[in-house]
Amino acid sequence: FVNIPSDIGQMLETARGHGNRIALVDGDIRLSFSDLFARRDALAAVLDIRRGDRVAICMRNRSEWMVAFLAAIRCGGVAALLNSRGSPAELCAAIDDVAPAVVLADRDRAARLREGGFAGRLIAAADFPAPGDALPPAVAPANPGDPAAILFTSGTTGRVKGAVLTHENLMTGILGMQLSGTMVLHNTAKQLGIPVATILANLPQQSVMLAAPLFHISGLGAGFLAPLLAGSKVVMVRRWSAESAVDLIEREQVTMFSGVPTMMWDIVNAGKHRGANLSSLRNVGMGGQALPVGLLDEFRAACPDVVMGTGYGMTETAGSVAMGVGADFIRKSASAGRALSLVEMRIAGADGTDLPAGAVGEIVVRGPMVMQGYWQQPEATADVLSPDGWLKTGDIGYLDDEGYLFIVDRAKDMVISGGENIYCAEVERIINAMPGVAECAAFGIPDDRLGELLVARVVSETLDGAAVIAEVAEKLARYKAPAMVRVDLAPLPRNDVGKIDKRRLRADWTQAEGIDA
Ligand code: ATP
Ligand code: MG
Repeated sequence: FVNIPSDIGQMLETARGHGNRIALVDGDIRLSFSDLFARRDALAAVLDIRRGDRVAICMRNRSEWMVAFLAAIRCGGVAALLNSRGSPAELCAAIDDVAPAVVLADRDRAARLREGGFAGRLIAAADFPAPGDALPPAVAPANPGDPAAILFTSGTTGRVKGAVLTHENLMTGILGMQLSGTMVLHNTAKQLGIPVATILANLPQQSVMLAAPLFHISGLGAGFLAPLLAGSKVVMVRRWSAESAVDLIEREQVTMFSGVPTMMWDIVNAGKHRGANLSSLRNVGMGGQALPVGLLDEFRAACPDVVMGTGYGMTETAGSVAMGVGADFIRKSASAGRALSLVEMRIAGADGTDLPAGAVGEIVVRGPMVMQGYWQQPEATADVLSPDGWLKTGDIGYLDDEGYLFIVDRAKDMVISGGENIYCAEVERIINAMPGVAECAAFGIPDDRLGELLVARVVSETLDGAAVIAEVAEKLARYKAPAMVRVDLAPLPRNDVGKIDKRRLRADWTQAEGIDA
């Protein structure tokens, strides 16, 4: 029933049809879909690249980032999305790696690149041509399996890797999200006893608040490409603060937002504090970490009509591979939902064989959204991607007897202490549920006798380490209680996409204790 084009550029082209609706709000800048495409055409006319050439985008979230991406794709380029928070050395290393024909950068990043020794071709955002009569070059459509973008992983477990996503990957990644939206629509129609078409006809334009970085799959897919296709308005948050988010929700009547639970907490609290009206919110997605107790109830109290959801996915799969939305999410809020319709999902034991429902093992997935491989890293690719298309996610979890996915931990975060396996995420869930805990992280440090020792850092004003250890020992098996807990008010270190940086935590801890790591 849907006619899927073979090229993400062709697919995005349809968004031009949204015309004079507002596509984008970035501070004082408001661009319509027509404006956005006119700017894209002007830039595409001067890009001067050949099919398959990399085009590096190196900017913070801003309207020109979107223009740059659309122009690169329009010209048959492969958009290489650089981490805008990178240092001069990191940015230059990434540029050396992807060898772009041209770099599109904002002023700050252009300066950082020059400082790092970059001397190649660069077009600064301030020099993007104004819309005019120039037409973009004629480019033959790509094959579905041709690379369209290189996105870097978050570097949570090691060095970042560039995932090569094809046209098909990006298209099915977006489609997966839309299909699940369609399911919610059908369920709502059934509940209300009215036809889907009636809901659609009365649906006002969605307003999507974007806080995730555009260079990360969460920002690119759910925050930019999906809303673009749907004709939604994207509202950019330039620098995250709960105050500015609440302002934008009220001013731009934001209907959709997704982020980590901490952000949701902050929005609810800031909203309460100010007596703000958050009732425009209709769809809220939370993911990436365990949900704190009470958050769901607080949210429903603040926005009674909100449909909440969660998902599981990664850079290597161009977005979510599982989702739980609405009634599904309420019923099993500890789950990451069920596999999306285009995804095959299995749980593999240590020897690679399928495990039955309820058994814990590595999550492996297959489908048209699974990346082609890591950019110029055949060995790293072969480690995770089998010749028949199964991707080892490096995450540990299980499927219950109804097919709901429960994420247990990352394989690399599992601590083996005295021969016992301890999942840090399980311990963190217990600590996070204690009143007075702002955030926490459990992790392993080297230990001569036990191999590894579980320790934890907790951010709290009221608790002490002994109380935390006692709580875990009471709720879980005794050996899962951390051997040492440090409680203070120092925020935990996070990486550039906001995930807790366990490598830093480990290094800081072992350095403070004088242990050789
Ligand atoms: P790197 O691969 O470089 O170590 P990363 O895995 O953090 O970094 P991303 O692709 O940004 O890079 O993140 C995907 C990972 O995020 C997943 O593999 C999983 O570990 C985690 N994740 C995603 N969704 C969830 C969820 N709902 N619950 C728990 N963890 C999740
Ligand atoms: Mg990863």
